[in-house]
Amino acid sequence: MQFIDLPAQYRRLKRDIDRAVLKTIGAGQFILGANVAELESRIAKLAGTAHSVGLNSGTDALFLTLKALDIGRGDEVITTPFSFVATGEMVAQTGATPVFADINPKTYTIEPSQIRRAITKRTKAVIPVHLYGQMADMRSIMQIAKRHRLAVIEDAAQALGARQAGAGGANGRWRAAGSIGHAGCFSFFPTKNLGACGDGGMITTNDGVLAERIRLLRNHGSRKKYHHEFLGYSSRLDELQAAILLVKLPHLKNWNSARANIAANYTAQLRNIPTLATPVRAPGNTHIFHQYTVRTPRRDALRAYLERRGVPTSVHYPLPIHLQPSFRYLKLTSGAFPESERASREALSLPIYPEIPSRDIVRVVKTIREFFSRS
Ligand SMILES: *Cc1c(COP(=O)(O)O)cnc(C)c1O
Repeated sequence: MQFIDLPAQYRRLKRDIDRAVLKTIGAGQFILGANVAELESRIAKLAGTAHSVGLNSGTDALFLTLKALDIGRGDEVITTPFSFVATGEMVAQTGATPVFADINPKTYTIEPSQIRRAITKRTKAVIPVHLYGQMADMRSIMQIAKRHRLAVIEDAAQALGARQAGAGGANGRWRAAGSIGHAGCFSFFPTKNLGACGDGGMITTNDGVLAERIRLLRNHGSRKKYHHEFLGYSSRLDELQAAILLVKLPHLKNWNSARANIAANYTAQLRNIPTLATPVRAPGNTHIFHQYTVRTPRRDALRAYLERRGVPTSVHYPLPIHLQPSFRYLKLTSGAFPESERASREALSLPIYPEIPSRDIVRVVKTIREFFSRS
C-alpha cells in the first residue's frame, strides 16, 4: 500500500500530458509564455479573483506577497505555528518577526481570539493557513483585520477549490480559498491536490497594484527586457509545469470530490472509536481533504502498529514551527502554544488520493479498528 501514488495519476492522463509537454518543448518558449498566462487566467477564474500570478513555488508566493506589501524589519506578522514551515519561515526571511497564534483544536486552523491577543502596534499582516484542505475562519479574521488595518494573506497551499459560506462579509455567498484575503498563496508541489511535475506556485488577488508588483518581483523587477525598476527575484512558474497543470486542472473538481467521498467513507467506518477523533468540518465550510487527518493520544503506537502491517501514514506536522531549531532565536519554548503542540503529538494522516484502491481503504480501517480493539 502507498501513502500517495503519483504515477497512478500520470498513467490516466499520460496521452494528454505527453502531448502537452512535447508541444511545449517543440515550441521552444520555456519562460513566461502562453501556458503560464492561460493557467493564471484559469486559476483566477477558479478562485474568483481578478488577478493571479504564476510563481516557482508556494513558498515564493508567500515571500513575494509579503515583499510586495512592504513587510520587513520592525514589522510583525501573525500566523499559526501548526503548518508547514514555509509559512513562518517566509515571514522571517523578509526580516519581519513571526508572531504565532494557537489553533482551534477541532479544525487545526488559527483561532481568531488568539489572533486578537497577539496584535501589537507593529502587526502588519495575518497569514491564516487553510490546513488539510479546510479554510480558516475567514469571516472573523477579516473582521479583526479590518479593525486593525492588517493585510490578510491566505496560505491556501493545501486548499485549491475549498470554499466558505458568508466569509468576507458577503452573507450567504460561497467564496473560494484565495479570494477573501488581500492575496491567496497556492502551491503546485507534486503531492498537493493540483500537483506539477516539479515545483510551482501562484498568487491570487483582487488588488491589481499588488498583482503587478508581484509580477515584476518574480522577474528581476523588470517590465521591459533589461530595464529593472526595483530589486527583484527570479521566481517564475515555467511553461512546462504550466502545460502539465493545464492538462490536470479540468480534473480538479472530480479529484476534490473523490477525496471528499474517500473521507466520508473513512469517517463512517472509523466512527465510535472512543479515543480516535475523525476530522471536523466547521459549519459553512467545504473540505477538499488534501489530507485526511485523525487524532488520538495514542498516535505513535497506532502509527507503529499500522506501519508493521504495511499501512503507511504520515504526520503533518510532528514539530510546530515555534519549536523548530531554525526558530530558536525567537526563544519560544514548549507550552507556548499548547493546542498546536498537542496536535503535533496526536495528528495522524491516512492515505488519501483520488486513485486510491478501495481495498486499501478497507485495510486501513480494518487495521485501525484492530489496534483499538486489542488494547
Ligand atoms: C506546501 C505548502 C507550502 C509551500 O509550498 P511549496 O510549493 O512547497 O513551496 C506552504 N504552506 C503550506 C501550508 C503548504 O502545505
